[in-house]
Amino acid sequence: MTAHVSAARLLPAATVDRLTALVSATSSATQPTFSPLDASPLAEVPQSSTTDIQHAFAAARALQPSWAALGPRARGRRLLEFHDLVLAHQVELADLIVVETGKSRSDAVEEIFHVALTARYYGEHAARLLRSERRPGIFPILTRVDVHHHPKGVVAVISPWNYPLTMGFSDGLAALAAGNTVVAKPDAQTTLTALAGLELLRRAGVPDAAWQIVAGPGPEAGGALIDAADHVCFTGSTATGRTVAERAGRRLIGASLELGGKNPMIVCADADLDAAVDGALRGCFANAGQLCVSFERIYVAREVYPAFRERFVAATRALRLSAGLAWDCEVGTLTSEAQLTKVTAAVEDARTRGATVLVGGRARPDIAPWCFEPTILEGVRPGMSCWREETFGPVVALYPFDDEDAAVAKANDSEHGLNASVWSTDHRRARALASRIRTGTVNVNEAIGATFASLAAPMGGVGASGLGRRQGPEGILRFTRAQSVATQRGMSLGAPDGQSREQFAATMTKALRLMRRLRL
Ligand code: NAD
Repeated sequence: MTAHVSAARLLPAATVDRLTALVSATSSATQPTFSPLDASPLAEVPQSSTTDIQHAFAAARALQPSWAALGPRARGRRLLEFHDLVLAHQVELADLIVVETGKSRSDAVEEIFHVALTARYYGEHAARLLRSERRPGIFPILTRVDVHHHPKGVVAVISPWNYPLTMGFSDGLAALAAGNTVVAKPDAQTTLTALAGLELLRRAGVPDAAWQIVAGPGPEAGGALIDAADHVCFTGSTATGRTVAERAGRRLIGASLELGGKNPMIVCADADLDAAVDGALRGCFANAGQLCVSFERIYVAREVYPAFRERFVAATRALRLSAGLAWDCEVGTLTSEAQLTKVTAAVEDARTRGATVLVGGRARPDIAPWCFEPTILEGVRPGMSCWREETFGPVVALYPFDDEDAAVAKANDSEHGLNASVWSTDHRRARALASRIRTGTVNVNEAIGATFASLAAPMGGVGASGLGRRQGPEGILRFTRAQSVATQRGMSLGAPDGQSREQFAATMTKALRLMRRLRL
């Protein structure tokens, strides 16, 4: 048993005051936050009124043309400076993330690495990705087409509490690199982490009005952001994502939606089982399962099911749960009482309807008030909430499968489609199987990180898991509007003098046939 830490002592009042002063808010209203490490009060976060949010957008809009005019290389240099600062300040950042979320230190550090990777990718590649391109015109030589990628304007970023640095910054960094300015609304639980990132962004030379943080209740403050933005980038639950999309749709602005998952992992008969177990531990229990891409369903080839089950259960039982800043914590606590209620209800629902709890299944208030054990279920069936619904906790169900077609069919039997993982020593077969899974990312012989940390490749959801892609060229171009400028010379596209419309149509028909034959 671990003694409760005192979170309030871990975070000096001066730090809280320095950070909360960065919220764009003028009203006297505040919202208290509590640390999941011990439920102690952490901060009184100033709340932004609708007027504060409108002022933030006005400032962001006024600055945006000059931020865009700097050019992608100068903007990229600021992102690279931010990369260096984030890595240099990783100890303070990790402390803050642990205190606000209750996750393990190593999970917190992964956020820092992901933000650094994102800043470096767009810092180094934005100029290339945003470069105007020549495309073929209707007539070779006679029609020149240039495609430009203009920033959309002011981008709203609405982010959740589970990965407050990663989700709070990675999308917005791409928007910033594209020449937009950003107004961000982090989740109420994790505003301090977002503010600590903002402090570093400003030290990296990003002007105050280029990235502002507002705070307030989701529906009100989030709604005000959507009503003022030129594009909204939302990460959160599928239910809220639908509301955000509807509101953005009414204004006809773009919306990128990174939503929930019910992610499958497939263990083939020829898999390296030790590696698969290690991957399952990380893939199911990182951040106590509060991770959009984590696995809640594992399908295992029947011939290796008993061996996988035995090793996975033993390894899960051996995980070290704790709450605090030390590196020895393997699994931290859930982040809120609401999360504990939800996860407990899902496990109780499965248990009372006949599922077997192979390991875990209990709250651990002796470790932290909202802590829950890593849990493996067997015998989960239709009708149980965790059959289809995202639990968003450290809870996974095991299922045997008889052939790979059945495994793919089961993996695809979900309204979600975010992430998946396939384990096999035959890489070619595993990749073929992966391409049949209806998700935005698939990791072969890795749980999550191979795709998520490969910044050049797109990441996002299918179906109820969202719209649009973060990372890669797709992740920056979504924050731009493409403009085609075609310059016509030599010959006009209308009928020349002396030719009837009918004759001109006949000439065009010949020209089209010729161009097809010559592959022009
Ligand atoms: P949530 O939808 O409740 O909240 C997310 C954010 O939206 C918060 O900042 C919240 O204040 C704001 N919000 C709430 N109501 C709003 C409204 N009506 N209009 C605008 N903004 C509003 O999500 P959550 O439960 O806090 O986060 C967990 C969910 O996020 C899980 O489903 C998880 O899978 C998902 N998630 C997805 C990704 C991804 O990349 N796909 C990453 C992390 C989390």
